[in-house]
Amino acid sequence: MKQLTSTAGNPIGDNQNSLTAGENGPVLMQDYYLIEKLAHQNRERIPERAVHAKGSAAHGKLTITHDITQYTKADIFSEVGKETPLFLRFSTVAGEKGAADAERDVRGFAIKFYTQEGNWDLVGNNTPVFFIGDPYKFPDFIHTQKRDPKTNMRSNSAMWDFWSKHPESLHQTTILFSDRGLPTSYRHINGYGSHTYSFINHNNERFWIKFHFKTQQGIKTMTNEEAGAVIAKDRESAQRDLYEAIENGNYPKWDMKIQIMTQEQAQNHADNPFDVTKVWSHKDFPLIDVGVLELNKNPNNYFNEVEQASFSPSNTVPGIGLSPDKMLQARAFSYPDAHRYRVGTHYEMLPINRPLNEVANYHADGAMNFGDIHKENGVNYEPNSFGGPKENHIYDEPAIELHGDATRYDRTLNNDYFKQPRDLFHLMSKEQKQQLFCNIAASMEGVQQSIIDEQMKLYEQVSPEYAKGVKEALG
Ligand code: NDP
Repeated sequence: MKQLTSTAGNPIGDNQNSLTAGENGPVLMQDYYLIEKLAHQNRERIPERAVHAKGSAAHGKLTITHDITQYTKADIFSEVGKETPLFLRFSTVAGEKGAADAERDVRGFAIKFYTQEGNWDLVGNNTPVFFIGDPYKFPDFIHTQKRDPKTNMRSNSAMWDFWSKHPESLHQTTILFSDRGLPTSYRHINGYGSHTYSFINHNNERFWIKFHFKTQQGIKTMTNEEAGAVIAKDRESAQRDLYEAIENGNYPKWDMKIQIMTQEQAQNHADNPFDVTKVWSHKDFPLIDVGVLELNKNPNNYFNEVEQASFSPSNTVPGIGLSPDKMLQARAFSYPDAHRYRVGTHYEMLPINRPLNEVANYHADGAMNFGDIHKENGVNYEPNSFGGPKENHIYDEPAIELHGDATRYDRTLNNDYFKQPRDLFHLMSKEQKQQLFCNIAASMEGVQQSIIDEQMKLYEQVSPEYAKGVKEALG
């Protein structure tokens, strides 16, 4: 039998009865373990994520099946057959921690790869694009997805008001209200890095890159009605599906693929290749096979692992870098900032976030610092004469050539936000189009006519068939 102790390791004699003055008397303050228990209970929650609050995750591995070393020197891709452990957290975006899983929403697809050269976080979604192309829009957009400040209810009106004023959102909303916007489970979605990233090879050449994870389980989706029936019985349908599949040894897998764009191609690309509201056509930039991602182990402790898991696009490794994508640049700041607030300054010391390799820097002190970074030489400044860790220029990235004046550019000028949603619309079967129309109409319930009219003008520009279909579905 393991002895029960206080947090200081003091053995506890009685965990059933408070220490009281007399049999029916009041509790004594010196019953320290009672106070410790109540104090800990009060501190069991940390702030939930402002977005992607409801999530499910699992451990797994990435196995490389194809050689892409001509594009990147990243250790994770260094040889065919190489396996890298990872942690993948799925989530819905808008709902709070207690929200039902089977809601129409984008799904988060955030991966932490524990590579030999530090953690690489690919913080993606199940959609290849995003609603907005400039980080100035991010807080406003998220406000429209969360609760109305007065009614404390979700507001269709706020969502459509925002979308109708942002044609750049048409691509993502067309995906969101298509069949793919309501997946049956996390096992049945694709994952996308969404942003454009860099690959850097051994010759220090940079390529632009997009990441894709295609589900081997196949895409499976639900209608609004089917989802309503699921939610009536089970708010944790996606968590349950993922957990049980892995417990039963039915390990879900995804094929990892990439698209590559050379710097020269980027200069001649019709669109801004760093615009996260756009995809790169598969015809022009075919998918290249990389490997297989498998999930094979459930977390032992949901809070320690899933809730405290902290992903950031700023976690890049040698051979993988960021791009000028404005949204990616902002996320590289805003994600670690959220973790410092939500989990604590030293969130990366926690086992789920800690890299496999040694961390060595001169960050000092701070709340809950249990690192022994300075243990070898006791020096907390750099440069120093005592053998402390030093930089190595072999890790310098090649320069990115930039042009233009530093000013605020209107990204929407001469930017065609209609072609790609149109391409997607034309890919859809008759049934999928009908679902799209009905899902949009359902989501417009209670929205004032002037906002709907504005949105209709956008649909007209995508395709008159699109606008007509939504109009008819609205009745
Ligand atoms: P392709 O015909 O080569 O590819 C179409 C892609 O669309 C496939 O990857 C397919 O995924 C995906 N798709 C099908 N239905 C939906 C849906 N309802 N929501 C989201 N994705 C869907 O075409 P292009 O590369 O020329 O692109 C045409 C359009 O396809 C784009 O405008 C974009 O909207 C969409 N798309 C493109 C992607 C890209 O990276 N090029 C990625 C995803 C979508 P799957 O193969 O898994 O069925």
